[in-house]
Amino acid sequence: MSSLESLWREFAAVFPTIFAVEAGRYVIAAGLASLLVWAFWTAGLKLRKIQPRTALAADLRREIATSLRTTLVFAIVGFCMHLAARAGWLSIYQDFAVRGPAYFAATLVLMIVAHDAWYYWTHRAMHHPRLFRTFHWTHHRSKTPTPWTSYAFDVPEALVMVAFVPLWAAVVPMHDLAIFTFMIWQLLRNVAGHTGVELSPVSGKPSRLFGWLNTSTHHDLHHQAPGSNFGLYFSWWDRMMGTEHPEYQARVAEIAERSRAGRKRAPEAAKVATVLLLAVAGAGLASGRAQAATGDIAGRWATEGFGSIVEFRPCAGAANTMCGRILWLWKGDDPGGRRRTDARNSDAALRARPLVGVEIVRGLRETAPGVWSGGSVYNPDDGRTYTGTVRLRGGALELKGCALNVLCQTQTWRRPEEIIAAVRGL
Ligand SMILES: [Zn+2]
Ligand SMILES: [Zn+2]
Repeated sequence: MSSLESLWREFAAVFPTIFAVEAGRYVIAAGLASLLVWAFWTAGLKLRKIQPRTALAADLRREIATSLRTTLVFAIVGFCMHLAARAGWLSIYQDFAVRGPAYFAATLVLMIVAHDAWYYWTHRAMHHPRLFRTFHWTHHRSKTPTPWTSYAFDVPEALVMVAFVPLWAAVVPMHDLAIFTFMIWQLLRNVAGHTGVELSPVSGKPSRLFGWLNTSTHHDLHHQAPGSNFGLYFSWWDRMMGTEHPEYQARVAEIAERSRAGRKRAPEAAKVATVLLLAVAGAGLASGRAQAATGDIAGRWATEGFGSIVEFRPCAGAANTMCGRILWLWKGDDPGGRRRTDARNSDAALRARPLVGVEIVRGLRETAPGVWSGGSVYNPDDGRTYTGTVRLRGGALELKGCALNVLCQTQTWRRPEEIIAAVRGL
């Protein structure tokens, strides 16, 4: 099979899931935000409307079409990241135990802070007269943002937006769930900035405690006056660079004043809003599971009973296939004190070779997300070669193999770190 053909098979197996996750979370987040605005309109949100103008149906159609195009761009980049991660160019890991929860949290927070800077400066650059038409024109066709505006980008802008993720992951080792959480965070903050109503619990005065978090009014003002408010999550870049809209605080105070009348019904509205947010989080997690299933099997695995450690790597000279060789043996020596050899091999010429280093898994291909098949597994204990399927299930590797179609075996392999962490926890 040519490498182009195998790339195509890989694409067909993985890309539909990535695209479904990208497009699905946009539709769910923007859809639920629209539903929230609609459901609580009379209960107080109409008092928090930022602009007197209302977006037209034509605006919504354009925003949805261009946003779906953006999710396609994101998914293509996501597929390239999948290939890059396998080739070892990105340091994305799946084993939570390897670096622990503190590392997970710290890298997630750092990624958000770094992305805020990336956004501020690339966004400001895209407003340069030479770049605006190519990069950022479509986004600013929306004068009155709606939740559907969130991904309404020109293709070059979509590429600039998503480029941050692989660049960051090339430098900082990230857990794949941290990247997923980051994507949900940026989407929710993006949607919040485009709802057209002020969602934050603003008071009349600038908040000392939360003043560094941008409100919905902050980005809405950027659509009204594109020369100010370039920041995404935090207000510090705009403050530092003197680009905050001069009336920003006054507008927020005015909305706070207007919304006081709707306060009586707010507790009830807050309850339903919480339920809706939990629904978004649930949907996000479910799609996260779907994405996690496409995880990588590269790296070290302890075979059942910790008899050996096998390392998976892309096979030499065959793209998109995985091979595994023995790295370490529980019983490294035979009873005579000599290094163990491949003594049960059906091929007598191979019986003298040292067992450590023998390639026992060959030519596995990912035929569906998280499912690898088409290869062979050699079991040195009985000298037989099995054909079968390897499946990632809950962080463990499930191997099902049959020799001569009758002698079937099932084994579960685990990450050595997972076993060590379990032992430490005893
Ligand atoms: Zn915008
Ligand atoms: Zn802009």
